Amino acid sequence: MIAENFETIRARIRAAAERVGRDPFSVRLVAVSKHQPLAAIREAMAAGQVIFGENYLQEAEDKAAALGQGLSWHCIGHLQSNKARLAAEVFTCIETIDRLKLAKALESRLVELDKIMPILVQVNVGGEAQKAGVAPQEAGRLCRELQQFPHLVLQGLMTMPPMVENPEESRGCFRQLRLLGEELVSRGLLGQHGPIELSMGMSGDFEVAIEEGATLVRVGTALFGERI
Ligand SMILES: *Cc1c(COP(=O)(O)O)cnc(C)c1O
Repeated sequence: MIAENFETIRARIRAAAERVGRDPFSVRLVAVSKHQPLAAIREAMAAGQVIFGENYLQEAEDKAAALGQGLSWHCIGHLQSNKARLAAEVFTCIETIDRLKLAKALESRLVELDKIMPILVQVNVGGEAQKAGVAPQEAGRLCRELQQFPHLVLQGLMTMPPMVENPEESRGCFRQLRLLGEELVSRGLLGQHGPIELSMGMSGDFEVAIEEGATLVRVGTALFGERI
């Protein structure tokens, strides 16, 4: 069942990329395994999946410990600065950097660990008060400030648009993130480590996100079913 879902989603990812003339290999699938049991993750691993997204630090720590080496764990949830020390150990990529204090706390632990952490800046494109993320007009400043941390490798941007009925309604937000990324590249604030990552799109709207340039799509329920 889970293996079939992976096949279906991968085919839809390929098709969406090809529709807009993109290389399907330029899009990677982050399997969002929050609130899914280990057995489900093992099935995903058997289907060839290595990148998993988790929202909660404790849960990610337990799963990473149980499942061993060789997997990538992306932090896609809000991270408190006082949890940064443990997060630096557990995760292989942090997609939700939205303030300097958090970056500072991560860097200080990464120095001790002698570990390099790929990061994304989370942008609140929709401007929702309840959502995390830096405002688009503040993103440039944060990117510049992040340059002072040698253990944080800024690879791109992440966003979570407002909830909508029709995925087409999110197209504008996805496009805005891509245009913001391009602007930051042109200002020399992003893209120093190669082509930038754009993490956008979930179960309901990943195809639209790919059409607008997503390089990472974060898909949970369409792969694993409802969370328990
Ligand atoms: C839970 C979550 C997802 C996955 O959502 P689905 O609708 O289950 O695909 C993606 N991104 C973030 C940030 C999430 O919290």
